[in-house]
Amino acid sequence: MNAKQKDFFLKFDNRASLDETERMLYGHDIAAIPNLVKPIIGNTTPDAVVQPTSEEELVEIVRWAYDEGIPMTPRAKASSGYGGVIPMKKGLVIDFYRMKNIVAIDKENLTVTVEAGITWEKLDEKLKKEGLTLRLYPTSYPSSTAGGWLAQGGAGIGSTEFGYYSQNVVSARVVLPSGEVRVFEEDDLELVSEAEGITGFISQVTLKVQPLEDLDVVSLACPDAHELQRIVEGIVQADLPIWAMMFINPKMAELKNKAPLMEHYGHPIEERVILPASYIMTLAFRKKDAKTVRPILDDLVKPCQGEILSERIAHHEWEHRFKLMVVKRLGPSLVPSEVIVPLSHLGDVMTEIERKVDQPIVKEGVIIQKGPDGNPEVVILGFIPGDQRKLGYNFVFGLVMTIIKIARRYGGRPYSTGMYFAKKAGQILGKERVKRLKVFKREVDPKGLLNPGKVLKNGLLGMVMTFASAFESLIRPFGNLVITQVGERPEKPIRDIPPDVAWYAYSCSQCGYCIDECDQFYGRGWESQSPRGKWYWLREYMEGRTQWDQQMVDTFISCTTCELCNLRCSAALPIEPSWMKLRGQLIEDKKKMTFPPFEMMVAALQAEGNIWAGYRKSRGEWFPKDLEKKHGPGHRAKNVYFAGCTASYVENDIGMASVRLLDEAGVDFTYLGEKENCCATPMLVAGKWDVFEETMRKNIQAVKEAGADTVISSCPACDMMWRQVYPTWTKKLGIDFDIKAKHYSEVVAEKIASGEFTFPKNGQEPTTVTWHDSCHIGRVSGVYEEPRELIKAIPGVRFVEMEHNRQKGHCCGSVLTLLKEPPVAADIGKDRLDEAVEAGADKVLALCPCCEFQLRVSADTKKMDLEVVDLARFASSALGYDFPDPNPEVKKQWAVFEGMIALMTPQGFADLMGSMWKELIDAMPLGMGGMMRFMGKIPGALNMMKPMFPILFPRLLPLMMPKVMPVMLDRVRERIPMPDYMAEQMPDLMPKVMDNLMPHMIGDLVPLVTQPMIDYLRGKKAA
Ligand SMILES: Cc1cc2nc3c(=O)[nH]c(=O)nc-3n(C[C@H](O)[C@H](O)[C@H](O)COP(=O)(O)OP(=O)(O)OC[C@H]3O[C@@H](n4cnc5c(N)ncnc54)[C@H](O)[C@@H]3O)c2cc1C
Ligand code: SF4
Ligand code: SF4
Repeated sequence: MNAKQKDFFLKFDNRASLDETERMLYGHDIAAIPNLVKPIIGNTTPDAVVQPTSEEELVEIVRWAYDEGIPMTPRAKASSGYGGVIPMKKGLVIDFYRMKNIVAIDKENLTVTVEAGITWEKLDEKLKKEGLTLRLYPTSYPSSTAGGWLAQGGAGIGSTEFGYYSQNVVSARVVLPSGEVRVFEEDDLELVSEAEGITGFISQVTLKVQPLEDLDVVSLACPDAHELQRIVEGIVQADLPIWAMMFINPKMAELKNKAPLMEHYGHPIEERVILPASYIMTLAFRKKDAKTVRPILDDLVKPCQGEILSERIAHHEWEHRFKLMVVKRLGPSLVPSEVIVPLSHLGDVMTEIERKVDQPIVKEGVIIQKGPDGNPEVVILGFIPGDQRKLGYNFVFGLVMTIIKIARRYGGRPYSTGMYFAKKAGQILGKERVKRLKVFKREVDPKGLLNPGKVLKNGLLGMVMTFASAFESLIRPFGNLVITQVGERPEKPIRDIPPDVAWYAYSCSQCGYCIDECDQFYGRGWESQSPRGKWYWLREYMEGRTQWDQQMVDTFISCTTCELCNLRCSAALPIEPSWMKLRGQLIEDKKKMTFPPFEMMVAALQAEGNIWAGYRKSRGEWFPKDLEKKHGPGHRAKNVYFAGCTASYVENDIGMASVRLLDEAGVDFTYLGEKENCCATPMLVAGKWDVFEETMRKNIQAVKEAGADTVISSCPACDMMWRQVYPTWTKKLGIDFDIKAKHYSEVVAEKIASGEFTFPKNGQEPTTVTWHDSCHIGRVSGVYEEPRELIKAIPGVRFVEMEHNRQKGHCCGSVLTLLKEPPVAADIGKDRLDEAVEAGADKVLALCPCCEFQLRVSADTKKMDLEVVDLARFASSALGYDFPDPNPEVKKQWAVFEGMIALMTPQGFADLMGSMWKELIDAMPLGMGGMMRFMGKIPGALNMMKPMFPILFPRLLPLMMPKVMPVMLDRVRERIPMPDYMAEQMPDLMPKVMDNLMPHMIGDLVPLVTQPMIDYLRGKKAA
C-alpha cells in the first residue's frame, strides 16, 4: 500500500490500524500451521485493518479498495480454522467487530435480522428476552458470528432438528465490489453461503429463530461406534423429537477426565465429573417431549450394551458443551480434521480411523437428522494432540489426509474448503454449485480481489495438498511413528517467558471466547488488547519474530485485572494470573518502565505510606471523633477496620460510613490510624513488587500489633490483598500469617440475617438503585449476595439488576485504564452507567472507592446525570447519618491526576522543558551551556551537532536535573493545580520520579526536544 492509499484510513481514526504488531495479529486463524507448510503460504500480515461500523461504510471501503486494486479479506471472530480469514495476498483485512446490531426481531414470523458481526451468544441473550431463541448455533457460540457462520457454512448444536445453518437463513444483504448491495434469498443464497467472502461481504443476515422452551438433557454411554450408530439409527427411525445430539469418543472422555480444572488463586473452582471411557452421547430435547423421548431412549440403549448416565454427567456435558478446547491444555497443540459422513457408515469410519491412525485421536460429532439428500449425516471433528514447535507435528498433520480419505471411501466429504481444500470444492459443495460460483465470481470480481486464495483457487498450497492426498499412504507411516505425549508439561522458560505462561500461550485455542467481555478489549476494540491477541503475541515473541517494546509492555500492564477472562476461557487458562506474573517479570526483573503515574505513587507510598501524596499524619483525620474511644487506634479488638488510601484521603465518606455501620451493627473493631499503609495493590499491578512486599510486611505487623486476627475492609482491592494475595505471598516468603479477611457487607449481612441488626422503617426516601459488582469483591472474593442483602434490608429501596451482574459483572474501567488512557476509561465507564440507566436506576450503588471514583469521573466526562453512591454511605444515611459530599474532592484529585498523566509522557516532558530552556542551558555542566549558546550564533553549527544529541542528552540530563528542579517544580505547579500538602511534598517526590522515568523515556524525549532547543539557541523562540 502506498502512502496515498494509507491516507484513506485517516478518516476512520481509531477504527483503522496500520500498526505492525496489530496487523500481525490479524494475519492468522485458530489453526497452528505446521512449520513446513508456512513457507508455502508466505507472509500473511495484512497491510491494514479496518473496522466499518455500518453497511454504508463497508460499501465505501470495498468500493475504494477495489478501485485501488487492493486484495480484501473479511474477518469476523476468526474462530474458524480453514484459513478463510488469512490474508493470503496481504492487502486489507475488513474486521466486522463493530457491525453487531440487531436490526429487527419479527416475533410473528419467527425471524431476526442482524448485522453480520453479532455473536451468537449476544444475539441469543437478546432473543431470550423476547421469549425466543436460536434454532441452532456452532459450539463456538460465545465468540463466532452470524455472518461468519454463513460465509463459512456448517452445522452445530440444534442441527439434529434444523440441519445446516444455511437452511435456516432467509436472506443476506451482501456488499459487492461495485458498491452494489444485493439481497440474496432462497437458491441464490448458495452464492454467498460457504463462499467465505469470495463473492461479496455479508452486511446483514435474516435468520429463522424458534420459541424459547425449557430443555431436558440426557447423556448415554455405549462401548463402540457401531453400537452408537445403532442407537442413533433407532432414534431417527422412531422420529423422536430431539433438538440436538452430539457425542464424544472414549479418548475424548479420557482426556476430559485429565484436563486441568478452572482455578482461582491456585484452588480448583469446579468439581471434576469423571466420564466413563466410552462413546458418550448427549441429547437435548424440549422438556415437554421428555415423556416421549426418555422411555424410548431406555429401550434403545439396552440392546446396544449402552446405559443412561447420571443426571450429573448429563448436565456437566451440556453446561460444558462450549468448552471442548480444554483438552488442548494437554497438547499444547491439536491437529484438527473435520469430515461429514453418512450415519449408515459412522461405525465403519470411526473403526477404520482408529485402525489406520496410530495416534491418540479425540473426536466429537454432531448428528444431522436430514442431510442435503434427506438421509442422516454425522459431522466428525477429530483432534490429535501434538506440539506445533516440534518437527513431528508436521508429520502428524499429514494424518488429516488419512481421515479425509477414509471418509471419502464411505461416501463422506471434508467439512469445508477454505484455504486448504479448494481443490476439493466439487466434493464439498457439489459440482453444479461450484460451476455457478465460478461464473458469479467472474462476474462480480473479475480482478480476483475478494478473499483471494480461498474456496475455488488456492495456487501452490492447493498443489501441495493434492500431492499430500495422492501420497497419503506413504506419508501416513511417518505421522504414525511420531511419539505423542499427552499431558501438561511446562518445562523451562522460553526467552524469559516463565514455563507455565509459555505452555498456556501454546494451549490457547484462539477460540476468541475471552475477547468481547474483556474491558481492555471492548474499550479499544483491537485484537492486541485481548487475551487471545496477547497469547498469540507471546508465541511470536518466543519464536523470535517480535521483541518487547514499550507499547507491548503497556499492553500487558493495561489489563484491569477484572478476571472475567479466566471464567470465559474455553481452555480454563489462568489468564489474568499469567499477566500478573509477567508484570513482575517485566518491571521488577527486566526493569522496563511501568505506567509513569505509578512512579509518583511509589514515591508517595515510600515517603508517607499512601498513594495520594497525603501526609501520614493526616491518614486518620476522617475518623469520627465520637467513635475514637470505642474503636479508634489504641482500642484493642480482634477485628481491624482497614480503610485503605482512597477512603482515607479522597472519598472520606466511605470510611466514615463504614465505621458507623459496623458500630451500629454492634461489631467490636479497632482502627490502625497512622499505622495503616496502602494495601499495595497499585504496587502489585504496577509490577513494583519490592515495594509491594515491603508494604505488605508493614501492614501485617500493624494488624498483629493491634492484637487482631481479622481484617474488615471496605475497599475490594484491600479485601483482595488480605483474603487472597497476602496469604499467597506470605506462604511463598515464609512469613507467619494467621489473619482472616472479611468485607463489612458480609459482617453486616450476618447481623441482619441473625436479627441482631435492622434498619429503622422511616430511614430512606423511596428510590430505585442498582448494584455494581466490583471485580475484586465479586469475581476475586466471591462476595455477591451480601451487598444485595444489605441493600434489600433498607426500607423504601427498590432494587434493580444491571444486565451484567455477579460473575458476569462488567468492570468499571479503573484503575489501569484511567491511568493509561483516560478517554478509553470514560468509554468503559459509560458502558457500565448505560446499563444502570437501562435498568431504570436513579442511583448506582458501589463499594469500591476506585470504581466510584472512575464512575463519577465517567459520568462527569460523558455528562450523564446519574448519581454514584457508596453502599456504606447509603446504608448509614438510612440510619440518620450525614456525610460530606465526596464529589468536589474527587474532581480536585482527578484534575491533579489528569495533569500528571499528561505531564508524564515524552510529549508532556518535552513541553515542560520547552518552558525552561534558559535554566536548562545554564545548568549544563563543564561550561557546555555557554558553548551551546555560542554555537547557536554560527549558522548550521547546531544542525551539525544534531546526531550527537541522542548520545549527549542521556548523559547530561541527570547532571542538570538537580540544578533545574526548583524551576521545574514551579512549572509543574503552574500546570497542575494541586493541594498544598501535595505541593509541599513535590520537592522530595519529583526527583525520585524523574530518576525512575528518565532512563526509560529519554529515547523518545530527545527527538521531541532537539529542534525546539536549537530554535531557542538560535533565538527563534524565547522560553
Ligand atoms: C471451540 C470451537 C467450536 C466450533 N464449533 C463449530 C461448530 O459446531 N460448527 C461449525 O460449523 N464450526 C465450528 N467452529 C468453527 C467456527 O467457529 C465456525 O466456522 C464459525 O462459524 C466461524 O465464525 P466467525 O464469526 O468466527 O467467522 P470467521 O472465522 O471470522 O470467518 C469465517 C469465514 O467467513 C468469512 N467471513 C467472515 N465474515 C464475513 C462477512 N461478513 N462476509 C463475508 N465473509 C465473511 C471469513 O473470511 C472466513 O472465510 C468451532 C470453532 C471453535 C474454536
Ligand atoms: S482480567 Fe479483565 S481486562 Fe484483564 S485480560 Fe482478563 S478480561 Fe481483560
Ligand atoms: S485465552 Fe482462552 S478463551 Fe481466549 S482465545 Fe485462548 S483459549 Fe480461547
